[in-house]
Order: sequence, then C-alpha cells, then structure tokens
Amino acid sequence: MAEQPGTLLYYLKRSTEFLEKKEIPNPRVDAEWILSDLLNLPRIKLYSQFEMPLGQKEIDIYRERIVERSKRKPVAYITGKKGFHKFEYLVTEDVLIPRPETEELVDYLWKKKEELYFTEPSPLQIWDLCSGSGCIGLSLTQLLPSSVVTLSDLSEKAIDVSRRNAEKYNLTDRTNFYVSDLDSEVPNDLQFDLVVSNPPYIPESEKPEIMPDVLDYEPHLALFVSDFKEFHKRLLSAVLSRLNPGGKLMMETHPLYIEELEEMAKGLGFIGTKKILDSSKKERFFFAEVPPLS
Ligand code: GLN
Repeated sequence: MAEQPGTLLYYLKRSTEFLEKKEIPNPRVDAEWILSDLLNLPRIKLYSQFEMPLGQKEIDIYRERIVERSKRKPVAYITGKKGFHKFEYLVTEDVLIPRPETEELVDYLWKKKEELYFTEPSPLQIWDLCSGSGCIGLSLTQLLPSSVVTLSDLSEKAIDVSRRNAEKYNLTDRTNFYVSDLDSEVPNDLQFDLVVSNPPYIPESEKPEIMPDVLDYEPHLALFVSDFKEFHKRLLSAVLSRLNPGGKLMMETHPLYIEELEEMAKGLGFIGTKKILDSSKKERFFFAEVPPLS
C-alpha cells in the first residue's frame, strides 16, 4: 500500500524500517505496540486508522520512544505496562516484566483449583514471595475471589509498583505488602495456605548468555542469584515455616536446577513434590506440599 506522508501508516513504516536496521527482532510488532499505547488505541484498531494524520506532538513522542526501543529498552518499560493473563499491570524498571511462562503458573493453579483447594478455607491465604509487580499474587486473588494475598519483596520500589497495581484493580482490602528479605519482615502470626513465587533463579554465571534487552534494563536483583542452592534452601525453609498443614507451594525455577530443588525440598520435609513442564516442554515449575495434620 502506498502510504501518504504524515499518516499513521507512514510513521509506522518508517519506524519499522528504523528498528529493523537496528536489528530489533520484531520491528513491526514493537512499532505497533508503541504507537497503539501512544494513541491509546487497541493495536488492532491501528489498521482501520492508517490514513489518520499524526499531530506534531505525537510524532515527536513516537520518534523518541522508537529511539529508546532501538537502544533495546523493552517495550513494556516504554509503555509502562504489560498484559498478563486476563489483566494488565503497571511496570517500571524496578520490577521484572511479567513473562508468559509465569502466566502458565497462574493458569495451572487456577485450572486445578477444585482439586487443589478441596478443603478451601475462607479466605484462602496466599503469599506471593518475591512479588515484583505483583502479577502472580494479584492475578490469583482476582481469579480466586475468596482469597487474600500477602506480597513481599526485598525491593521497596517493587512493593510500591505492586501497591499501585492493587489500587488499579481495587484490591487494597485484600492485599498486604511487606518489604522483606524472604519472611523476615512478614508478621510472625501470618500463615498461608498457598505460597506462589517466581524468585530470582538465574545463576550469575549465565549473565553472558542473557540478551541485552534484559541485562541492560531489568532489575538484576529480580533475575540473578549468586548461590542458587544457598538462596533456595533459605527460601524453602521460610516457606515451610509459613505454610499451614496441607499447604501448597508453586514456584517457577530454572529447569537445570529443578532436580536439586526437589531434593532440597524433600530433605526439609515437603511431600507430594512435582516438576511441571511449561509450554516449551521445559521443567519450569515446582510444586510441593506440607503434610496435612494426621
Ligand atoms: N513475581 C514477579 C514476576 O513473576 C517478580 C519476580 C521477580 O522479581 N523475581 O514477574
């Protein structure tokens, strides 16, 4: 299609070409996301607006944002939001961008809710440990309406973002927030029925293999661990001491270390351990339970 200079399609095409030259992997898709956010139009709607002229202010901002993307800044940090499961969360560079694998973790728990919560207490107490944007805990508490969620993260700025996400979805009366190294600042009398977590799990030795979009922009605190075993042993112990009898843990982890994680969990007294595949057939999720009261 021959596009008229000054129209939406014209800038979309120029931006796509520019990103392509800079070797950005999906240039057209990224150019569309950035434009749809800027114009506050669903991405699909751009297609019926190709002939619309862009104003000078829009052109300037669009150009600036495309330049940011050309420097590998992730689209979610440019637009300040990321779709996750049925929701859309605010993100800043203080939190990890929610990943599609993590949606699978939420979906797994949601689909199995009858099986997993047959003794569902009211309200179900959920703890999202290393909560970042809050995407896991805030999604689950919306999907499981008789639940309340505690979010904890070592980063105060991350907790601020998750608090804004809770406000966005009117969840403040069903959420607690703690800036905490694991459970250190979580009040001692808080016990949980379900713990969910996507903790940092990439060994620092893998840094050279990580793409620049991630390495240069996402918080390293949320991604990397210096000693997988030491950190995860502390994490599992904290979870064990906070789960009610019969309580469950579902976490995301590194497929290469999941075996080690399972051994550690069994050694600490967890039962019913399971390694669950993600949609790319990687052993990405780990499930474990605390024995019920006999
Ligand atoms: N729970 C958040 C997420 O999955 C943050 C994870 C993290 O900071 N490691 O995106």
